[in-house]
Amino acid sequence: MLERGEVANSWRRERWDSLRLLTPNWQSRLPGFPYRGTDPDGFMTMHEVVEHVSAFAAASAAPVRTHTSVTAVSRADGGYRVATDCGEIRCRCVVLASGAANIPHVPPLSQAVPKEIECVTPFDYRNPQRLPSGGVLVVGASATGVQLADEIHRSGRPVTLSVGEHVRLPRNYRGRDVLWWMERSGVWNQRYDEIDDIERARRLPSPQLVGTPQHTTLDLNTLRAAGVGIVGRLSMIRDGRALFSGGLANQFALADLKMDRLLATFDSWADGAALDVEVGPRERFEPTHAPAAPRLSLDLRSGEIRCIVWGTGFRPDYRWLGLPVFDHRGELRHDGGAVVGAPGLYAIGLPVLRRRKSTFILGAEDDARDIVAHLERHLAG
Ligand SMILES: Cc1cc2nc3c(=O)[nH]c(=O)nc-3n(C[C@H](O)[C@H](O)[C@H](O)COP(=O)(O)OP(=O)(O)OC[C@H]3O[C@@H](n4cnc5c(N)ncnc54)[C@H](O)[C@@H]3O)c2cc1C
Repeated sequence: MLERGEVANSWRRERWDSLRLLTPNWQSRLPGFPYRGTDPDGFMTMHEVVEHVSAFAAASAAPVRTHTSVTAVSRADGGYRVATDCGEIRCRCVVLASGAANIPHVPPLSQAVPKEIECVTPFDYRNPQRLPSGGVLVVGASATGVQLADEIHRSGRPVTLSVGEHVRLPRNYRGRDVLWWMERSGVWNQRYDEIDDIERARRLPSPQLVGTPQHTTLDLNTLRAAGVGIVGRLSMIRDGRALFSGGLANQFALADLKMDRLLATFDSWADGAALDVEVGPRERFEPTHAPAAPRLSLDLRSGEIRCIVWGTGFRPDYRWLGLPVFDHRGELRHDGGAVVGAPGLYAIGLPVLRRRKSTFILGAEDDARDIVAHLERHLAG
């Protein structure tokens, strides 16, 4: 196992100070390594995640070579030649476990942002104190965007949040964490080859969730009530003006509809299941309230906004993978983790790789088992 940094590198280097997992502790189980702490329903801080992953590495005696960066992978003798900054390795199989979120995605329209505005990605962001004082535009309202909008707003800075397609979820449903429902109802276990539009499922944004000791729900109603300005999707920056889409009410209606459908799925599962725990009565939540007249543009040269935070997603970085295994969008072509056209090459940890839960910590175990079985068959010839 080659790791360019240290064990749990992304959790050590690429996250902001206040971040906690949005999955409860009991869900941070790794193969043969359940959460053993005293707060199963809490949410780990980054320090705790690093400890947890490091403890797993030690307990499993994983042969990790740290501070070893893979710089190139090419075909050689029916297998692969892996170049690293510590020498070369020849092997018959390679598993790409280099992560789904190596680079913050910033849309090309960002190039038109006036020079005087500071642009920050979630990898640069540590805490609000490091931002310039003044107004902040947060672009993107998925997990990262809503969490950063909330934290920056609490620091006293005026925040405007630009909202595109998003996934709304309550933190708790019928007295249980919503991710308990995702897991127990089987939704998270749904396999990639049972999903109608797998391309779309793989591109879905992360849910609007935050892990706090108070188990807070953080949705657009909460943010708006706290004073965060809500605008539509950032569609263009022209002559120093940010232009926002007017379809905010539609975006809200769609996200509310999808949330209600998911809750209805949970309800029908609960009706038919012999539950070993108690759940509360059915709930439905207030619709997301759209501002009566959302702003459609913002003059980025007026001084109102001093900083833009791009909460617009993350991408894997495969610049070192010199093989023809990418589609026209530059995405890895794989069939449930087996890379297409490259026998013996596998991926793990990507969105909906084999199951809806694939990109979460708890998704590793089942996916690893399937991929190792495939890999064994490959090695057996
Ligand atoms: C902001 C954020 C919040 C998240 N919150 C949660 C959460 O609450 N719960 C949850 O379950 N999941 C969460 N996730 C998803 C989370 O990243 C995954 O669950 C988990 O980290 C995936 O582990 P991984 O090993 O596949 O990827 P990573 O943790 O990204 O690990 C990949 C490793 O590969 C190394 N690497 C990359 N390229 C090379 C190279 N060329 N050579 C050598 N080494 C290399 C990196 O240094 C890194 O250590 C979150 C993700 C992000 C971005």
